[in-house]
Amino acid sequence: MSNEKLALLGDEAVALGAIHAGVSASYGYPGTPSTEILEYLIAQYEKGGPVARWCSNEKTALEAALGVSFAGRRSIVTMKHVGLNVAADAFINAALLGIKGGLVIAVADDPGMHSSQNEQDSRFYANFAMVPCLEPRNQQEAYDMTREAFDVSERFHVPVLLRLVTRLSHARAAVKPEKARGQNPVSKTTEKNLWMLLPAFARKNYAALIEKQKELEEWSFRHPVNKFDGSEKDMAIITSGLGGNYFEENLDDFTAMRKKQGKKAPLHLHIGAYPLPEKKIRKLLGAVGDAVDEVLVIEEGQPFITQKLFGIVSDFSVKPVVQCGELDPDNVREALGLPPRKGISISTGELPPRPPQLCQGCPHADSYDAIKKAVTEIDPRPGHPDVGINSDIGCYSLGAAPPWSVPESIVCMGASVGMAKGAADAGLKHCIAVIGDSTFLHSGITSLLDAVAADTPMTVIILDNSIVAMTGCQPTIVPSENLAKLILGCGVKPEHLLELEAKKQIVEENAAKLKKEIEYRGLSVVIFKRECLEAFRKKR
Ligand code: SF4
Repeated sequence: MSNEKLALLGDEAVALGAIHAGVSASYGYPGTPSTEILEYLIAQYEKGGPVARWCSNEKTALEAALGVSFAGRRSIVTMKHVGLNVAADAFINAALLGIKGGLVIAVADDPGMHSSQNEQDSRFYANFAMVPCLEPRNQQEAYDMTREAFDVSERFHVPVLLRLVTRLSHARAAVKPEKARGQNPVSKTTEKNLWMLLPAFARKNYAALIEKQKELEEWSFRHPVNKFDGSEKDMAIITSGLGGNYFEENLDDFTAMRKKQGKKAPLHLHIGAYPLPEKKIRKLLGAVGDAVDEVLVIEEGQPFITQKLFGIVSDFSVKPVVQCGELDPDNVREALGLPPRKGISISTGELPPRPPQLCQGCPHADSYDAIKKAVTEIDPRPGHPDVGINSDIGCYSLGAAPPWSVPESIVCMGASVGMAKGAADAGLKHCIAVIGDSTFLHSGITSLLDAVAADTPMTVIILDNSIVAMTGCQPTIVPSENLAKLILGCGVKPEHLLELEAKKQIVEENAAKLKKEIEYRGLSVVIFKRECLEAFRKKR
């Protein structure tokens, strides 16, 4: 290993850290801002590196990783924060197992919702599952902590959650790699009771997990990343993740301001390893003087540390910097009592808004033209009260904008099919689910099985562009040519499975065929097919 530094995205630093930690297999489902971790690992796999594969969804990815751990080898699973909801069943139960080969779950949160439907903070999940969490503040820590996470997982026999955020995942900085470690040999676990969550075993394992918390707290108490600096006892500041960087970015000005007030740097505790180092927090707050009654918490995401502090301290008021959106150097500066930075102010007031939109020539545009036409013919009244159109997560969400304005709900991966079924059960006359091929395979297919079982009068429209387009054109798990066979295998009647080409020239024809299926009083599936233009361009 040369000493050369590499310029890596935070996501790439995690991937390289995993390879250098001796990972044997990596799995994931694409989701911004986590996608580049597995893309990097897959690129290495294609050059002969360890196994790395996209999976149907985050739960199947985590289950495959559990199998790797069961076989004694190291594995990493990657997903965005909402993906952890999908994987939650496996994740929470994994904490009760006797993890053998190190298991790391890298979850990228999206504060500010740049490309997500919520801002949930994965530190709550680690706390809920009672497993350690590492939260890097820069690309070097992303590399180092990934390597460490595998060791911690094997030391305490628990999965370890690595919490990333958008600005870390998608920013590039220098990383100095260390010597790579080899892979574990295959060595299947022989302690069956540690892997069988039958109630009799699960009770014991759960008690052991609770007992393990003392060791984990001791580990986080001694972890070098959870460290103090500053000396003045008039103020207490706690930072975590990128909050530590933004605090440091303002430190010169903050120190100068305090110098004028005759004060030195205040006591400061940075936290990057969880469970929360409660003893260190008590030490911090025990050290501050009588003048302090406020703790400033600079953390990004939901107020995890802030809420935990309420259980530790009672004499202090705890103040987070932001509760919604991202931290940045400016809001941290304001929280520190500093005046706004001087500099060039850039006014964006006169720029026209540029909302995301479908690419010119996107096949979804032609599908939406046909859907809109069919729906308008069925119910021409404003808001077509007899027709409900539930949509899903993917490029086609952009059909919510004019000129189509077709989707009426977008909730979570796969929800369109279940919601259309529920609306049909409730008595809404014409119920439609609009879902992409990858989202359908991720979690729409299970609701289709429910609809088949009840022969629910509804129409599932699958927009098959042969790719996971929105996250950068990853392959779908079932190729287009097999999609219809899969749907027939689910029990959909062949006479109510249509495959249409999403083409501008045949919009009228497609709308007429679609209208017939929407009006049919049973379950129908209509697949609109045409390759994503971006994928086509990349292939060429
Ligand atoms: S990336 Fe592909 S599917 Fe997405 S909007 Fe562009 S052409 Fe359409």
